[in-house]
Amino acid sequence: MKKALLYRELPNGIIECLACARRCKIPKGKYGFCGVRWNLNGELYLVVYGKLSAIAIDPIEKKPLYHFNPGSMVLSLSTYGCSWACEFCQNFDISQRRLLEGFDVSPEMLVEFAESYGAQGLTYTYNEPSIFVEYAYDAGVLARKRGLFNTFVTNGYFTDEMIDLLSKFLDAATVDFKGNAEPKFLRKYCKVPDPEPIFNSLVEMKRKGIFIEVTNLVVPRVGDNLEYARKLCRWIVDNLGPETPIHFLRFHPDYNLDYLPWTPIEVLERHVEIARKEGLMYVYIGNVPGHPYEHTYCPKCGKIVIKRMGFDILEVNLKDNNECKFCGFKINIGGKVWNLWKVSSRFVYIPIQAFTKYVKVDIEKYLKSS
Ligand code: SF4
Repeated sequence: MKKALLYRELPNGIIECLACARRCKIPKGKYGFCGVRWNLNGELYLVVYGKLSAIAIDPIEKKPLYHFNPGSMVLSLSTYGCSWACEFCQNFDISQRRLLEGFDVSPEMLVEFAESYGAQGLTYTYNEPSIFVEYAYDAGVLARKRGLFNTFVTNGYFTDEMIDLLSKFLDAATVDFKGNAEPKFLRKYCKVPDPEPIFNSLVEMKRKGIFIEVTNLVVPRVGDNLEYARKLCRWIVDNLGPETPIHFLRFHPDYNLDYLPWTPIEVLERHVEIARKEGLMYVYIGNVPGHPYEHTYCPKCGKIVIKRMGFDILEVNLKDNNECKFCGFKINIGGKVWNLWKVSSRFVYIPIQAFTKYVKVDIEKYLKSS
């Protein structure tokens, strides 16, 4: 547990949390919507600081980040809770639980894990990382000092104060839209009042030099409106640039929307057509291993410059300066291509129980000391 960085005091001991655009007004003794930020006597605390729900080494393609240090390995980690409440969340067991416990891991240990397992960076993922930004910040600053990069997989539902903090340690982010950012869909299925803060976050993150990839979960029947897909793609082209990678992700039945089918592949392909027509240069289909839209195609000559299967890279046709080997076109790549894609597996299980314990946060201790 640690005092939060992002909040302001209001009259009567109420705290306004500034970590996400929900801006919860939290009375004394209560938690915000995400369930992990607590008003203790007029000060805000991150209760899950250093308490992990999951940790693993993943290929960076799993995030998905296809254009930022492709072929590298990242230490992925999560706590509990979320600032959204998606009815279809595939990680609902950690995002919608409100547990004040986890594996006890300091920022220093995270960086040491990453180094000892040969990872090139840290990814704050599985649950929404902005809600535990103070922990990510401490780990991220240390990681950068040791030559590691930091990435978020996030809903992008930020405040300006959050983006200022992120700019001090974050290198790249996958910003996840759902249901083509249709406001009615987000209100009904994610309990998000308005998608506008996400657009603001994207512009500001890009302005501050954070590498951006966009994903969009296409939910069949209820979140697959093609006009909203067109609107989203047009906005990306106009505001982030046509070189911004976009991934259309296949929905699979989960949590409270387990009665819906998987997204038909033709529906995903129609989204790809629209994105390409609107001018986006790097368009992908996710969660369909073996689909031709897993590869990166050179926007100029149309040849495959990075060939993939699932999270694996099979072939790279780029020169050292990230130009297409066939025609010399400069491909939008942040960082460099790592040759780790040639190793047999970039998934590594970390036996966390051997290093630390799963513990509950001792709230009584803080109540007594305050
Ligand atoms: S981070 Fe949590 S407490 Fe803070 S505004 Fe968002 S939902 Fe509310």
